Amino acid sequence: MSDRVVVAGAVYDQGRLLAARRSAPPELAGRWELPGGKLEPGESGEQALVRELREELGVETEPLERIPGEWPLGPGYVLQVWTARLVSGVPAPLQDHDELRWLGPGEGDEIDWLDQDRPAVAEAMRRLPAG
Ligand code: C5P
Repeated sequence: MSDRVVVAGAVYDQGRLLAARRSAPPELAGRWELPGGKLEPGESGEQALVRELREELGVETEPLERIPGEWPLGPGYVLQVWTARLVSGVPAPLQDHDELRWLGPGEGDEIDWLDQDRPAVAEAMRRLPAG
């Protein structure tokens, strides 16, 4: 059986990358991630990403490109990451998170990212658009 996919977004706005601090489950709470969630049946990765970012943060986003690679998340799941552009709204931690932070150039290592997100975060920071 193939692994189920979790999609996450490297959301950019004004030359900064959005990071979200998880509030649950207990073993992940307090660590930072690229926000996202599980693909639902029939969805493309891009569709799932737009839906998850709307549900979790209350914003509209436009996926830009997939960051090459796929990272294991424990039994049966893999993480895929897209860069995305904030189209409208101000992100708010509506679900799963208790704090958000915008990271500018050189600030990617200032927070405690989930281990599985680190390779994609490094690549997302390399691709940070000019403000
Ligand atoms: O957000 P949600 O709980 O739907 O995510 C499913 C699982 O994917 C979480 O348990 C979390 O471990 C993982 N995840 C991750 N990195 C992300 C997003 C989710 O490891 N950027």
